[in-house]
Amino acid sequence: MSYGIKSPARYMQGNGELANLGRNVKKMGEKFLVLCSPNNKKRVGVQIEESLKSVEKEVIFCEFNGECTKAEITRVMDAVTENNCDVVIGVGGGKVIDTAKAVVTNLGGYQLVIIPTVASNDSPCSGVAVIYNDEGVVIKALMMKRNPDLVLVDTAVIAQSPKRLLVAGMGDALATWFEARACKASGVKTMARGQCSNTALMMSKLCYDILIRDGVGALEALEAKQSNDALENVVEACIYLSGVGFESGGLAAAHAINDGFAYVPQAHGMYHGEKVAFGTLAQLVLEHASEGEMNEVLSFMKLVGLPMTLADLGITDVKEEEIRKVAEAAVVPTQSTKNLRKDITADEVYAAIMEADKIGTAYKA
Ligand SMILES: [Zn+2]
Repeated sequence: MSYGIKSPARYMQGNGELANLGRNVKKMGEKFLVLCSPNNKKRVGVQIEESLKSVEKEVIFCEFNGECTKAEITRVMDAVTENNCDVVIGVGGGKVIDTAKAVVTNLGGYQLVIIPTVASNDSPCSGVAVIYNDEGVVIKALMMKRNPDLVLVDTAVIAQSPKRLLVAGMGDALATWFEARACKASGVKTMARGQCSNTALMMSKLCYDILIRDGVGALEALEAKQSNDALENVVEACIYLSGVGFESGGLAAAHAINDGFAYVPQAHGMYHGEKVAFGTLAQLVLEHASEGEMNEVLSFMKLVGLPMTLADLGITDVKEEEIRKVAEAAVVPTQSTKNLRKDITADEVYAAIMEADKIGTAYKA
């Protein structure tokens, strides 16, 4: 038995936390390159700049081009070296964050600060960056030398984000407990290079319990555009617990099935967490989950508005050959379905997806 736990060196979260950015990065370096979209620069650029200037740091903004590709990573690396920056700050959603992670890793380990402006997935705290080609297909999961040095989340900013993105983040976080539990049971190694520890398992369970308790209340904060206690808890669950939970607790069928949906063009408009949520339902079918557990998950999904059927994922014209492709992709040796059970077949996964669709459809009715 060997346990592995990976996490960011520091995690800060609070209502108005951006004002404390300077204080938190004071010893990291002198010149900061801030990678963000024009929209996020408008949202939080002034706050970031003022906070860094309050501790006498130089700031350079670098506009993100929208995709985490090799060309974009190289362009930002050049901007960092040409401007003699010593710290990179990635501000925004998954793709900006992954680009910033790849930039510091390729440059040999610069200090990295991540400021998520949405809580739509579990990437900010992890040491993994997903790289795409120009066609939008995943080409690589880059492992960082170390996880981000600081992840700073301002819940006042998250409270202003679109509701669908937080719901997607809750979908991603919903899978964390079930996937970690499966990895603990099978004893497989996680991305943290050890088996699922008691710590990671406990964090994953806490993540799930917070979602069930506070998920609906957190959405009320987004409607009021003002943080509340439920949102504080849910953001911690979606960004911290789910991030450390998936990396150190392990992934299983839910994420593998999500990846498989890349083969269904009808589902291309869906967010990662939305597909992971449906993948969670299919994983519960594969695990022969109890009726009580299934109903708790279904009730939560319905309350917060997560997709529970193939049609909810945009797949209104269900083609058997396409769903079989999803199942086949989910069981290739490099995928995490095997963490549930080594001998799982594509036929079983196909049947589980179709059964999850049936269960979701019946529950909604
Ligand atoms: Zn995820």
